[in-house]
Amino acid sequence: MGRIINIFENDAPLSKETRRVLKQKLEMAGFSVPDEFDSKAELIVCIGGDGQLLRMVHQLDFPSIPFVGVNTGHLGFFQDLHPDELDEFIFRYNQGEYTIQNLKTVEAAIEVGEETFFQRGLNEITISCDRTHLIHLNMSIGDSFIEKFSGDGLLICTPAGSTAYNYALRGSIVDPRLDLLQVTPIAPQNTTAYRSFLSSVLLPNNLPVIIHPENTEDRGIYIVADHTSQRYDRIDKITVELSDDTIQLLRFEQYDFWRKAKSKLL
Ligand code: NAP
Ligand code: MN
Repeated sequence: MGRIINIFENDAPLSKETRRVLKQKLEMAGFSVPDEFDSKAELIVCIGGDGQLLRMVHQLDFPSIPFVGVNTGHLGFFQDLHPDELDEFIFRYNQGEYTIQNLKTVEAAIEVGEETFFQRGLNEITISCDRTHLIHLNMSIGDSFIEKFSGDGLLICTPAGSTAYNYALRGSIVDPRLDLLQVTPIAPQNTTAYRSFLSSVLLPNNLPVIIHPENTEDRGIYIVADHTSQRYDRIDKITVELSDDTIQLLRFEQYDFWRKAKSKLL
């Protein structure tokens, strides 16, 4: 068996067409492109937008195989290629003219009675309720109790996720070469009744965020990792940390985080 490359695309016609053309070109160059996921593949090509890459990362359970993204008309923070650059891509890939960007992930351990559940995100983990009521979250950083947060919820993001939901909440844009976790409040209350930090806080890589939610029987607490949401009815403790498990992304010569941030956000 020769060198294998997996391709996954979203439903857009341009993505389907790009898959067809890329598969043909890769096969001409001596690669094989199976129809189903093959764990022996050396590379996963994702055709679509950031959302498609996030979906594949979750569907394949955060694989250690590197990804490369082809952008077919979305925002495309994770993507480095355009559909008209396929020949150049294959040439450069074969020449080894790329670098690997290691993106840290964020992991939540959710303790419910005797059980512990895990959720992982490439962008972020959010903790919120059904949005018709305030949620109250007792938050510690490491061993220090910080606040009883009251508001819509808390978002805890990776550097890669700083430009997604976090940015819409007025969180900071973080250069992905930094190893840090950002905690951003979602609609925090700051009144004589409730006091919460109003800005994001930035934490070093080995300091966990520990949350003891105030459970309300009927409402549930939702933990969302990227686009995947899970409801829990009684949570004792949530520990959120930056994980050493990374997603590897191929980056080519022209990639520069700040140039990308400028072109997508300004
Ligand atoms: P979506 O609702 O279809 O799109 C969310 C938007 O965020 C898309 O434009 C997507 O880019 C973009 N995006 C995703 N990851 C990004 C990143 N790391 N940096 C900059 N932009 C990014 O959902 P989706 O495509 O499945 O993405 C899930 C993400 O949506 C979540 O992880 C969360 O960050 C974000 N979200 C944002 C808000 C908000 O801004 N108020 C609310 C909920 C969720 P593409 O167009 O290239 O797909
Ligand atoms: Mn999307």
